[in-house]
Amino acid sequence: MALVNEHFLKLQGNYLFADIAKRINAFKVTHPGANLIRLGIGDVTRPLPPACIEAMHRAVDEMADARTFHGYGPEQGYDFLIEAIIKHDFAPRGINLSPSEIFISDGAKSDTGNIGELLRWDNSMAITDPVYPVYVDSNIMCGRSGTLGKDGKWSNVTYLPCTIENNFVPEIPNHRVDLIYLCYPNNPTGTTLTHEQLKQWVDYAIANDTLIIFDAAYEAYIREPNVPHSIYEIRGAKKVAIEIRSFSKTAGFTGVRCGYTVIPKEVSAADIEGKRIQLNPLWNRRQCTKFNGTSYITQRGAEAIYTPEGQKQVKETIDYYMENARIMRQELTRAGFNVYGGINAPYIWLKAPKELTSWKFFDKLLYEVNIVGTPGVGFGPSGEGFLRLTAFGKREDCIEAMQRLRKWA
Ligand code: PLP
Repeated sequence: MALVNEHFLKLQGNYLFADIAKRINAFKVTHPGANLIRLGIGDVTRPLPPACIEAMHRAVDEMADARTFHGYGPEQGYDFLIEAIIKHDFAPRGINLSPSEIFISDGAKSDTGNIGELLRWDNSMAITDPVYPVYVDSNIMCGRSGTLGKDGKWSNVTYLPCTIENNFVPEIPNHRVDLIYLCYPNNPTGTTLTHEQLKQWVDYAIANDTLIIFDAAYEAYIREPNVPHSIYEIRGAKKVAIEIRSFSKTAGFTGVRCGYTVIPKEVSAADIEGKRIQLNPLWNRRQCTKFNGTSYITQRGAEAIYTPEGQKQVKETIDYYMENARIMRQELTRAGFNVYGGINAPYIWLKAPKELTSWKFFDKLLYEVNIVGTPGVGFGPSGEGFLRLTAFGKREDCIEAMQRLRKWA
């Protein structure tokens, strides 16, 4: 008899997007002619940069000829992409990485979800609240989160509330934890940490022997100078942090699938006797066993992001989304809403007026102005009373939605 991993049975159904879909369907039945504008989507809408398309076409042609065909590639990724990443994403920021410290992946979700395999199930952990749900769920699956309390919180998880009062900057825990997930720029709040604020986290990690999993999936959206693009901009971070990146929101790769994880040689965890074990060779071993590499065609497409044309095209697309964000912030503020995020991130964190709950606010916007957002409470208890809006939509939809919201307010 095969016994099931009982930790999977503890997972709460992820009903957020299913619930949203249900409510939208019910609305559509009763309002068949309504022009619904969706500002809740977390997916990009602009096509891939032409430089990536051309590179992928060339790669397909190579695959069509026995002399240039590529079969299994290196599990860690091709050198051409790793070298482009080091040269463009890290060297200009004064960060020295060797090729063996970069692992190309099929996206940040897999790596944020799988990285915990390197760590014992009984490490303590902390997350910011609200949070990208993968960090919690992947830890529930291996039993690390403990048991679910009546307050909806997991017993072995330290929740770090990100609220209006603390400007969405989580407070450093007053006790030590083994593992912490940080995501900056943040999904869902769209807020960031300054260099000084991130340094406090790195200093905490060094002092407490804590491992930081730093999710930088939205790094390309940073506009302000004092916001670090990589955690390794902070001195000492290489000893305590793993950084995960994605080409999904940078270059429209959500459907293509490519990202990477940086595991410096210095980063280590302890075995039960206290001996330090490097995590880089462990992840290498894990990838060689469970992952057969990102496709050659995809990696050639990702490499093209770093060409001068690719960089220009990526910038144009990000500028487009960030102009949406700027318009949304401006119009929502004018309409009297309290608006957060949207300056260094494609997400706007909107406070519901009149103490409405997230779901009440969601329903009101759906029925009264035909606009769809994502209820903040779906990202964690501290998201209650907020709605997440994204800037990934079409410009004309954004403008129309803001006009409706201004009238409504
Ligand atoms: N990390 C965060 C914070 C995200 O918001 C997302 C996607 O929405 C991901 C990771 C997943 O990225 P990918 O498409 O590379 O798997």
